[in-house]
Amino acid sequence: MIKKIAILGSTGSIGRQTLEVIEARKDFFRVEVLTAYRNADLLILQAKKFLPNVVVIGDECRYAEVAAALQDMGIKVYAGSAAVVQITEMDSVDIVVMAILGFEALKPILATLKNKKPLVLANKEALVVAGDLIVQAAMKNHVPVIPVDSEHSAVFQCLMGEFDNPVEKVVLTASGGPFLERNPETLSEVTPEEALRHPVWKMGVKTTIDSATLMNKGLEAIEARWLFGLEPSRIEILMHPQSVVHSLVYFADGSVKALLAATDMHIPIQFALSYPRRLENNYPRLDLAAMGNLSFGKPDIKKFRNLALAFEAMEKGGNMPCILNAANEIAVEAFLQKQIGFLQIPSLIEKCMETFPFVRQPGLEDYVETDRLCRIKAKEFINNS
Ligand code: MG
Repeated sequence: MIKKIAILGSTGSIGRQTLEVIEARKDFFRVEVLTAYRNADLLILQAKKFLPNVVVIGDECRYAEVAAALQDMGIKVYAGSAAVVQITEMDSVDIVVMAILGFEALKPILATLKNKKPLVLANKEALVVAGDLIVQAAMKNHVPVIPVDSEHSAVFQCLMGEFDNPVEKVVLTASGGPFLERNPETLSEVTPEEALRHPVWKMGVKTTIDSATLMNKGLEAIEARWLFGLEPSRIEILMHPQSVVHSLVYFADGSVKALLAATDMHIPIQFALSYPRRLENNYPRLDLAAMGNLSFGKPDIKKFRNLALAFEAMEKGGNMPCILNAANEIAVEAFLQKQIGFLQIPSLIEKCMETFPFVRQPGLEDYVETDRLCRIKAKEFINNS
């Protein structure tokens, strides 16, 4: 049986790599739907190559261009964010890969689960902000949520076959980004160009900056909390610059499982698509003998304050992770535009967490409002600084 796949956000880093995985195993996967927000040129190229049934361009201004390019190919073209949500209803879609960036992904995620489609989840922000709503929807509709991120894929794989066996803690590994060894006193001078040079992983711009500040790992801790139903106190971060051990699960009997693999995102992407099966491939193999030594250490939360802020937000719960995420997105954008320095990223997030109204048990509307208003507030802080 060939799995027919909808890729939401096909022109981003994960979307492109997902298409590479599909291309390598055309005997198992077929592209049914492609969506992109703005990158019409790449979307058109992808559609011509993979011949999906449906294409959606999020930005309605680009509709005419995409429709004209694909009209002779028998591909249906739609535009707008409502169409992105609607494609999750299509009977011909077997699984949905959610590679849309940002909190925007929440509505199509909830629609995917409501329509009982297995969700391959690469988006972080929606899970960080509204993980409770996503988990509830997945449980209510008996739909699996299969993570793509290397750390969560690792934990997911370590938990396979363990059923209700008690977990003592989950340890997410962190490469530490480009500034792991850097003198903290010089962090204020870091430029966007330096922060974008990640030593191990190739990722999108936002995630690369988040890796340099360790916010990425903080967001991943919050994601893990929801994906695996963990108390915040059972989640730990372990620095591991080589990124060979992708994460570990400590069980209550003292046994520890870890997942190791070469640092190549095609591997966890393929696993998420083929789950529960494993398919042969030609991606790089881990060569431990060639690597020699692996190193591990505790994170320095004084140097990387974002990590401490993320754990604080996770423990407070409510709309605090939403505040953290919105403030971080604005801060990263401002850093890339050189409006604020590297060390002002955590300062801005902290200021938003301290001043924004706390909601203990938010619903969907509270999350949407917190996200919208916190962004405005964060921009005001930047403009007044
Ligand atoms: Mg990761």
